Amino acid sequence: MKSPKYALGDTVYRGSYEREEHYITCPDCGGTRRILVTLHDGTTITVECGGCYPGGCEPSTGRIKQVTMNCRAKAHTVTGVSLRGDSVEYQLDADAAGNYSLADEHELYTTREEALGGAEQDRTAQEAEQNKRLMAKTKDAKSWAWNATYHRRQIKTLERELASHREKVQICEAQHEV
Ligand SMILES: [Zn+2]
Repeated sequence: MKSPKYALGDTVYRGSYEREEHYITCPDCGGTRRILVTLHDGTTITVECGGCYPGGCEPSTGRIKQVTMNCRAKAHTVTGVSLRGDSVEYQLDADAAGNYSLADEHELYTTREEALGGAEQDRTAQEAEQNKRLMAKTKDAKSWAWNATYHRRQIKTLERELASHREKVQICEAQHEV
């Protein structure tokens, strides 16, 4: 059984991150929102960039969101300690209205500096993970090619339909003239 490091009434510090968003120019289209695709027959066509495509009916934006994580450390007062085997959970800042937050012992530090140091250790990994997810659509040439092929096929189908409808109208008009 572990004995708790902090006691009721102690001031403890917990590190956290503040997410700051900014945008970078899309590395795939360089902000132009367009990509040139060469198909197997040598034809080159311009398609909307998939790297900065936000999804849905929105057009590609030419830029991609990225985040910067800033470390913060906040002071809390221990208002409850609960022991469960080897884990110690603390109740922090409980007020008269019954609001409080919970923290595991490994999340808490005695000084603000230590809390900031702890958060800093994870910061790079957290930032990289989030930014990797935001960049997930870039360098996905397979889907651009798919898009290009799909739209080309649609154009061909619609052109064929259009020609067929034109022909029918011409037949109707020809009959009408007779
Ligand atoms: Zn792009």
